[in-house]
Formats: sequence, structure tokens, C-alpha cells
Amino acid sequence: MSEIELLKCENCKTIQYPGRKRCKKCKSFDLKPFMCKPSGKVITHTTCSALPESIKHHKNVTFAIIDLDDGGRILSQVWPSDSVEIGTNVVGYEDVISIQSNGTENIGWVFKPAV
Ligand SMILES: [Zn+2]
Repeated sequence: MSEIELLKCENCKTIQYPGRKRCKKCKSFDLKPFMCKPSGKVITHTTCSALPESIKHHKNVTFAIIDLDDGGRILSQVWPSDSVEIGTNVVGYEDVISIQSNGTENIGWVFKPAV
């Protein structure tokens, strides 16, 4: 299973995602990769139906904030749409999350309910 690469501040130990140059908490530049399993729990979510062209291959897309089991919090798409509630355990996998106008597929993390 692939792992999600987040960043961990060596100064204050805050785990952060997406990548950035400085710690969002203490502003240190001492950030190191932090690998974690793609599993966690939905903290909150919303479903969008007015989508940009790049993700119109879906009718609706649910975006969720997920607390990862290994630490850290991320925002991710959840498929199928409307499949989760607050507190749902989810697992992640890599898939096509958007398609550019020239047909290039963008691969990213997507989550689904854990079984
Ligand atoms: Zn820090």
C-alpha cells in the first residue's frame, strides 16, 4: 500500500499538508517528510455539484477533511459521492482526480469508506 507524504516540523512536531516551505504553526523552515498510512476518519464533508471542467467526469464530488490515523489532517475527494458521514472510517488510494483540457490526467489521493 502506498503512503501519503506529509510534512512534520522538526521544531514543534506539527504535521502538515499540503507541502509548504515554512511550518504553519511556528514558522520554522525545518520540515521533514512524514509518511503515513492512507486511513483515517471524516471530520467534516461537503458535496459540490457545480464543478470545474477539470472534474466534470463526476456528477457530484464530496470533499472531506480527514484526520489520518498516523497523525495529520488532509482535505481530499471521497468517492462515491455522499458515501460518508462525520465519523466514517475511510481508506485512501491513488486515482485520477481531475483531467486537464488537453487530456492530461492528474493523479491524487481519493478516499472511500473502509469496509
Ligand atoms: Zn513548527
